[in-house]
Amino acid sequence: MMIADSVRRLEPYVPGEQPKNRSVIKLNTNENPYPPSPLVAKVLAAYDVDRLRRYPDPVFTELRALLAERHSTNADRVFIGNGSDEVLTLAARSFVDSGEAIGSFDPSYSLYKTLAAIRDVPFVPSPLADDFSWTAPVVEAGGTRVALFLLTNPNAPTSVMYPEDKIAAFAASFPGVVVVDEAYADFSGRTCMALAAAKDNRNVIVMRTLSKSYSLAGLRLGYCVGPEGLIEALYKVKDSYNVDALAQDVALAALSDLQWMKRNASKIAATRDRTADELRRRGWNVPTSSSNFLFARPAHRPAAEIFEALRARNIFVRYFPGPRTGDRLRITIGTDADMDQLLSALAELDVP
Ligand code: PMP
Repeated sequence: MMIADSVRRLEPYVPGEQPKNRSVIKLNTNENPYPPSPLVAKVLAAYDVDRLRRYPDPVFTELRALLAERHSTNADRVFIGNGSDEVLTLAARSFVDSGEAIGSFDPSYSLYKTLAAIRDVPFVPSPLADDFSWTAPVVEAGGTRVALFLLTNPNAPTSVMYPEDKIAAFAASFPGVVVVDEAYADFSGRTCMALAAAKDNRNVIVMRTLSKSYSLAGLRLGYCVGPEGLIEALYKVKDSYNVDALAQDVALAALSDLQWMKRNASKIAATRDRTADELRRRGWNVPTSSSNFLFARPAHRPAAEIFEALRARNIFVRYFPGPRTGDRLRITIGTDADMDQLLSALAELDVP
């Protein structure tokens, strides 16, 4: 009674910890260690607060125009959400009927499973190979058809990138909707955006966020590109004013400074590669990362122990218990100084 069965049974998604203490070396939620573009500070400093008396543009006209141009597509193929998590929630609301299922690789972004539970539809995992490389997605289980496949590329928490041709071939054969979640694509230099923008695209939505490469996790802005029909469905089910006025203005400024984002993304990629090399030199297993984090298996001590010991030293990384993830740490790439501190702590902790 009172609370729906599906909600009572729900295991909620647990986001990474956001400590109050700002002196923590925070490598646990894949945030960007560098500030957003100076154009963001400029917009905020000059903001005319009187504009907040009015509701925001419900269909984000200016932002859509900028994004449509950037991705060589039309504005009716662009949708914007209050963070890309909202886009995912709306996709689960729009593209799945009861009696159908939501699928994704396993391991992947653990919110996907929760979205299925919220919709009260089955979640069908597609187990990845031991090296986390591409595997054929499972599109049916026990007579239930997967109607929506959520595919993170590069994947999280594994950090591994799938080839675009595998994704294109899968999408071509799949009767349902494929959402390619490119939250981390700016750190890889590769993208499936061309699939989403293609004229004959029937079922591919490619999604991005400003939370990682644009250093704006606190702002809440994500977007996606896809076929008009699917994008229209997202507009039908969204809240009237899902993206606030301030976020729209700040996002316009951040997106217009592409050079700033790219410079930070390549700095982070360089720090990532050097950190991965050093961990490998110490015997850790570190898959090649195309993202702003590593999914690393320690050489000597269990990951859970190292996680706790780092925490006691005010270095926060992420640990996901479970058979596929419990022997690794997900380490967000911070500044060079952050990573040096991490590496020296690990030199003391990960010993036989
Ligand atoms: N997709 C993936 C794979 C993520 O890791 C995250 C961040 N937790 C998101 C989407 C959500 O990002 P946001 O809602 O901040 O845009």
